[in-house]
Amino acid sequence: MWRAAAVRTLRGAGAGAPRAASGAAAAAAQLRRRLESELEDIRGAGTWKSERVIVSRQGPHLRLAGGGAGACGGEEEEGSRSLPSVPCPCFSLSVHAGIINFCANNYLGLSSHPEVIRAAVEALEKFGAGLSSVRFICGTQSIHKDLEEKIARFHQREDAILYASCFDANAGIFEALLTPEDAVLSDELNHASIIDGIRLCKANKYRYKHMDMQDLEAKLKEAQKHRLRLVATDGAFSMDGDIAPLREICQLAQKYDALVFIDECHATGFLGPNGRGTDELLGVMDKVTIINSTLGKALGGAAGGYTTGPKPLIDLLRQRSRPYLFSNSLPPAVVGCASKALDLLMESNAIAQSMAAKTQRFRSKMTAAGFTISGKDHPICPVMLGDARLASVMAEDMLNRGIYVIGFSYPVVPKGKARIRVQISAVHSDEDIDRCVEAFTEVGRKHGALS
Ligand code: PLP
Repeated sequence: MWRAAAVRTLRGAGAGAPRAASGAAAAAAQLRRRLESELEDIRGAGTWKSERVIVSRQGPHLRLAGGGAGACGGEEEEGSRSLPSVPCPCFSLSVHAGIINFCANNYLGLSSHPEVIRAAVEALEKFGAGLSSVRFICGTQSIHKDLEEKIARFHQREDAILYASCFDANAGIFEALLTPEDAVLSDELNHASIIDGIRLCKANKYRYKHMDMQDLEAKLKEAQKHRLRLVATDGAFSMDGDIAPLREICQLAQKYDALVFIDECHATGFLGPNGRGTDELLGVMDKVTIINSTLGKALGGAAGGYTTGPKPLIDLLRQRSRPYLFSNSLPPAVVGCASKALDLLMESNAIAQSMAAKTQRFRSKMTAAGFTISGKDHPICPVMLGDARLASVMAEDMLNRGIYVIGFSYPVVPKGKARIRVQISAVHSDEDIDRCVEAFTEVGRKHGALS
């Protein structure tokens, strides 16, 4: 059969290139039709994700490109209103209070911190644009080693390994660590990258109901037959703003001889008295074995991710973890940003602590206005609306009032649980937060979300 196909192919080639080319052209045309129809389906389902273009730095105040609704007209005007130039509350930058940004993961406002930017420029000048190599061939510089050491120290762990992203860290850990003899128990609402990482490994897989400790215990009992059990959970869940019950998870892990892995992307830098994360907040730093987190959110916001934990695990990841072995080293400028962000956090806990009061202000004012805010004590504040269209129309109308927020609906969140997600940053001023609440109140009344 293979021979017959090979002979046909050879005859086809012998008969001249045009036939082969038209075959390829037909295949390309067929693919194009299929893709266009798939794109149409996405549009038809109302789940199309469009991207707004920012023409300024990331920060609490933004300029958006284009003349569309809510786009900031720069120095002169935004929409029909004249906009004042105001000092940025954190770093004495003069910015235009055009769009107030409530949808970035820039929790500590370090993305545009002058010292973070300077550190990136210095690293770029001293170490160049990039390594043109993976780490183990020709891609490890002293700054990579310094940053790994700093991350381990920050989390009080033995060692750390850098990745191009936390998505990669999650994609690389489970396959390297777990075999068919082992088991992984994963919260059903874990981040997509944890789900994908678990799919790649050959361990026995258990999915427990979201933050449901009875279900986790039942699954741990079932998993006793395996050599090793690893409970994997987000420290803080980004769609609901809720925090994993780590104390209870660690108690169950203790009872059933399991290890605990947490993804701290929405916790590192600002949860806990010193911003170490969920494990510090809940007093279980010594009970969580493995932490994966990102450099692309609170820690400067550039890019990059890491695993930190026991040294033999980190050593093994350097040998076996595919996204580490087969992807380029982090660029020096990116390393410089994250390194400086960690320095700032380790020098003082004032930045980390500045989050809580802002979050509390928003949550309590919105609740008093009549809105339901999901989660607790986390700067991710989902304003629950239920209806997908309402969430989308209200988010658009918020932008018309200079407040940049995003509506989420099915399939990103469950049907009937549409919401607008608001993310508070340490560099929002009280006035920013109050303007956001006022705009929500106006828009909520206009669209019938508030009586
Ligand atoms: N894990 C969680 C919980 C996240 O929210 C994200 C990013 O959205 C990631 C992992 C991936 O992080 P990175 O952007 O560093 O790939």
